[in-house]
Amino acid sequence: MKNLITLAAFIYLFSASLYGQDRQLIQDIVQEANDNSHLERLAYTLTDYIGPRLVGTPQMQQAHDWAVSVYKDWGIPARNEQWGNWRGWERGITHIDLLSPRVASLEGMQLAWSPGTPNGPMTGELIIIPDLEDSTAFQQWLPQVKGKFVLISMMQPSGRPDYNLKEYATPELYEKLIEERERATVDWNRRISRTGLDRRTLPLALEKAGAAGILMSNWSGGFGVNKIFGAFTKSIPTLDISLEDYGMLFRMVENGDNPTIRVLAESRDLGRVPVFNTIAEIKGTEKPEEYVILSAHFDSWDGGTGATDNATGTMVMMEAMRILKKIYPNPKRTILAGHWGGEEQGLNGSRAFVEDNPEIVKNMQALFNQDNGTGRVVNITGQGFLHAYEYLGNWLQEVPEEIRGHIRTDFPGIPGSGGSDFASFVAVGAPAFNLSSLSWDYSTYTWHTNRDTYDKIVFDEVRNNVILTAILAYMASEDPERTSREKRMMPLDPDTGKPRPWPAQRPLVREGGFE
Ligand SMILES: [Zn+2]
Repeated sequence: MKNLITLAAFIYLFSASLYGQDRQLIQDIVQEANDNSHLERLAYTLTDYIGPRLVGTPQMQQAHDWAVSVYKDWGIPARNEQWGNWRGWERGITHIDLLSPRVASLEGMQLAWSPGTPNGPMTGELIIIPDLEDSTAFQQWLPQVKGKFVLISMMQPSGRPDYNLKEYATPELYEKLIEERERATVDWNRRISRTGLDRRTLPLALEKAGAAGILMSNWSGGFGVNKIFGAFTKSIPTLDISLEDYGMLFRMVENGDNPTIRVLAESRDLGRVPVFNTIAEIKGTEKPEEYVILSAHFDSWDGGTGATDNATGTMVMMEAMRILKKIYPNPKRTILAGHWGGEEQGLNGSRAFVEDNPEIVKNMQALFNQDNGTGRVVNITGQGFLHAYEYLGNWLQEVPEEIRGHIRTDFPGIPGSGGSDFASFVAVGAPAFNLSSLSWDYSTYTWHTNRDTYDKIVFDEVRNNVILTAILAYMASEDPERTSREKRMMPLDPDTGKPRPWPAQRPLVREGGFE
């Protein structure tokens, strides 16, 4: 009987807190997010005005300084914390023109960290990596690249993505076209491997042999999209060309029409520059030494403007912080926003934070990370924490049904070993969770592509994620209990018959980009 009364009292107290003031506060969060959104403004400044945020560029630094000043305007203390040094570089303009056999401006750009054409535009003929017997034959052929632009990627047999072929071809034609693409890919890979070199060493060998530049085309499998990563050359430009123009140049060479192009590529090496994380903080009133962390990497690749990777995650965390400061200015626990640098080169900013702030990580109540595009959150797992359901499941109950209803949960789930910054925390056993989004064709169309731009942002989806994140942060901050870090029994590895290990913290790079 006594137990029953205690239970009744407990239920009463619990529901009083949930259905009284807390409910109002959650409604206020939703209303602020919907009626006074800053998302469009944040997106404009971050993607259109500042632009891509490649580690080591002046634009990355500009973004850090901008974030600190925006937080200051919102009354939230923020700071930039140095985590290392990186090769500094600034992207300039790239103009690539076909001069012969006809005149056309081509679509293409320098890869990140590519050397430019320091003495103005360079004109040259083109040459394709030939299909040779072996590396000896390749070395004999190599002197022919002198003064020429070398095409090192395959020509795609079709610029139509597979899904488009599937939609319009007969089943037989579809199969034939897919086979053609596969065969062309295998043949090209064999051609490259017979040089005895790989994607890293081949451009360097061509550079050493006196090539004028490297032309490649890293097609992403959709209309108009290429993925743009970093160059390996040290003195000559490496240029990515659109599928359409690359194919045209390739066919002109193969047909013996001796195309000539002119390249103007401006970029600047800036030596060794310091690199940062931006940390914003709303101090806790009751338990200031315990932390709820909102996490999103701040850096990007620079083929587009890093809109969905990861301006959207950044905006979610900034906007959630703004709303929390306004609606919930005196949180029980300290709420931090971590805008990590250097994620794209191996989660370096967040790993450094974990290494440099053991007290914060030890006292972390929860971390919420978002990093896979503009879509509404549809997946959350317990990341292998045995009791995650008891707290995270509880917090989610307070999220409005129209948001929570789209989210599939998996408890305790498997601990993530990489992919985004939450993994830096999971590796040391700290309860970090990833708010995983619906794709909106992320992997083909925006992830690391030349089309990752403002127009791909679906603001209503991002607003949805702001509300989710702000409510989770609020609930994690208010929870009377500390979260459990107990780990699950890991599933067996079929090869060894033993439980798979918990993911280990991989070493971080604090000085990078110079090799
Ligand atoms: Zn990302």
